[in-house]
Amino acid sequence: MHRPIYLDNQATTPVDQRVVDTMLPYFTEYFGNPSSINHQYGWEAEAAVKNARQILANAINASPEEIIFTSGATEANNLAIKGIAEAYFQKGQHIITLATEHNAVIDPCKYLETLGFEITILPVEKDGLIDLNLLEKTIRDDTILVSIMAANNEIGVLQPLAEIGRICHKKNTVFHTDSAQAIAKIPLDVQTMQIDLMSFTGHKIYAPKGIGALYVRRRNPRVKLAPQLHGGGHERGMRSGTLYTPQIVGFGKAIEIALAEREKESDRITKLREKLWKLLSQLEGIHLNGHPTQRLPGNLNISFESVDGAALLLGLQSVMAVSSGSACSSTNTLSSHVLTALGHSEKLAYASIRFGIGRFNTEEEIEIVAQQVISTVQSLRQLQ
Ligand SMILES: *Cc1c(COP(=O)(O)O)cnc(C)c1O
Repeated sequence: MHRPIYLDNQATTPVDQRVVDTMLPYFTEYFGNPSSINHQYGWEAEAAVKNARQILANAINASPEEIIFTSGATEANNLAIKGIAEAYFQKGQHIITLATEHNAVIDPCKYLETLGFEITILPVEKDGLIDLNLLEKTIRDDTILVSIMAANNEIGVLQPLAEIGRICHKKNTVFHTDSAQAIAKIPLDVQTMQIDLMSFTGHKIYAPKGIGALYVRRRNPRVKLAPQLHGGGHERGMRSGTLYTPQIVGFGKAIEIALAEREKESDRITKLREKLWKLLSQLEGIHLNGHPTQRLPGNLNISFESVDGAALLLGLQSVMAVSSGSACSSTNTLSSHVLTALGHSEKLAYASIRFGIGRFNTEEEIEIVAQQVISTVQSLRQLQ
């Protein structure tokens, strides 16, 4: 039996075979503990970790000591947000974030609220972008952190990081950005963008699940962070736990590949996205969610008027793997908080599909997908 076309690359990606091949020797042959400083097995693993750390640092114009490996972006976000709250609470207890953030940012903030911190969740414009004037007005003397994502996981919108960084530093506030969707896909530079903390994950860029990192600025200014995992003092005391060498090696390789192929790949994927949008535009009553051009190359998020969201997904499932406007969390089936933040009704948010185009999708697949979406929407509307 044919498996559906995979078009959910903002949820996760397959691991690139080149990444798998690079990882394999680190399971069986170079299996040492990178912290073992007394023998060759440890040195080999440490050298591999050092190499990956350098690749990630270079990718964002940071230095290797500023990279803390974690289990993914959820952990990196938790470390950044709770770590800052704990280290800076005597300076202030106000934190600013955005309505369209991933739950891995929103939920740590909500947790801090229960401890007495004050959280301001900024609304977004209709196109999903932050209102920079509003941000500037909202920062106070006791604001210790601004957390605004680089690229949105549902609607692909890219926030103006350099402008946000400039405002935060002018106001002496730490700037954290969740870059899980952005790393190696769009240019990121912690110096010119004045970013203090940045979260990453491997599994959205063809590396395995279970590996990520947090960039922590060391100078101009030096950012203090309270560790959230205590133990052997790994990662300069900020994240204890034996380093997961094969995953780290794979993460480094995935970034290396993505950077080397970025221009070509992002051109190709942008063309596929534009083609899909053009084909689907034959349908009436559809809305593109998020800014039309300031978005990730592979993301197309569309709301369909006059169809039932569940019926739509059901009609597409055998042909394609996509996400609907309700798949934002693993346990609940609320409508997406990102789409309602754009001003959509619950009903329209449900009747939304995220098409996530990736490295391994072809033009033929896009044509098949478009055809199926068009015929499904048309037949659902005829039933009404
Ligand atoms: C996927 C994702 C996360 C969570 O990353 P994990 O590595 O799966 O924990 C956080 N933020 C954004 C924007 C994401 O897309």
